Amino acid sequence: MDEHAEMVLEGIFCETCGDFLAADPAGFPDKCDDCFEEEMREAVEANEWPDGMPYGEWSRYKYMYSFPEFRE
Ligand SMILES: [Zn+2]
Repeated sequence: MDEHAEMVLEGIFCETCGDFLAADPAGFPDKCDDCFEEEMREAVEANEWPDGMPYGEWSRYKYMYSFPEFRE
């Protein structure tokens, strides 16, 4: 495993686009806000509730991305 891949696993860089996230990472792979938002938008379009996400949060994202006029 190369060094960058290790840093992605540590949560230092976004696991999707490779953007820098944090010098003091959580210790698990994570995404930057842009990639997280993109993933949520796709999940909402596919109506797939992500594993481990609280229902309240999921309904908030569904609401946010179901109405394009609220995206701004
Ligand atoms: Zn990213």
